[in-house]
Amino acid sequence: MRTITVTENGVSVQFDVHSFGQGAPRVFFTAGVHGDEVTGVYVAQKLIERLAEHPPLRGRVDVIPTVNTASMRCMQRRCPFDNVDLNRVFPGDANKSISHRLAQAVWRETEGADYLVDLHCCGAHGLPYFLSVYSEAERIRELMGRITLPIAVHSDGTEGQLFLKAARERNQAACIIELPGGGGNGAVNLPVAGQCLAALTDLLRSFGMLPGEVEGEAPTFYGAPLDAECGGAGLWMPVVKMGETVCEGQVIGTLDNKPVLAPASGMATSVRPAAYVRAGNLWVMTYAVPEQLPSEI
Ligand SMILES: [Zn+2]
Repeated sequence: MRTITVTENGVSVQFDVHSFGQGAPRVFFTAGVHGDEVTGVYVAQKLIERLAEHPPLRGRVDVIPTVNTASMRCMQRRCPFDNVDLNRVFPGDANKSISHRLAQAVWRETEGADYLVDLHCCGAHGLPYFLSVYSEAERIRELMGRITLPIAVHSDGTEGQLFLKAARERNQAACIIELPGGGGNGAVNLPVAGQCLAALTDLLRSFGMLPGEVEGEAPTFYGAPLDAECGGAGLWMPVVKMGETVCEGQVIGTLDNKPVLAPASGMATSVRPAAYVRAGNLWVMTYAVPEQLPSEI
């Protein structure tokens, strides 16, 4: 294990890099880029324990279990020293504030990886899913096809994200896994963590890096997730459950006892629980439409 220290004007942050095995392929896992997304951190720590017991049969695995240690210490998304969102400033800059320098250090560490998987957390009311620009490169799609979580979605990402820069500027196969949060305040969602750890174990098995057969099923590829709104403020009561397939025009819930209809057909990946929705946040459901193969268009 190596510890990398990054400093700026009397402020310093550190992160640990755990490396197992050598050679190719090289698979890199990062977690805790956002300091409050701790279910991903927990998964990375469990993966380190597993790899310490069972070193790779071939190739190399690197894990940074907590990239943004200062943010995690404060249990917040952004760095407490400069209030920067680390996953908006990759590949980083050695002449800017501490987050930019940290990004550059992580960028350098991950440089030689063939595959890069960045573990994050999403809202508490959804299913786990993973995302990348899989239509842009076959190697990305190949990586995602090896991760045995059910829902792979397309996302154009946001400028400055680690996975996006890695995919586009360094031609790496990179993706983000989004795990439902455990309720905040440092809570870990254990069932989801177990599901993710099994999928990452399958990923390493698929390369022959860990013993055993792949146990899970390959994912279904979807387009970009879309949000459905309920059209106004009031009392929202859901009818559909996450994971259900909805058809365009189907009643997905009610707002003040009036039906709210699905705007399109797809799979409900996230459904808002019963809630008084307000004007500033009318979101009630996120859905994903299965990828259309060329023969179907
Ligand atoms: Zn995140």
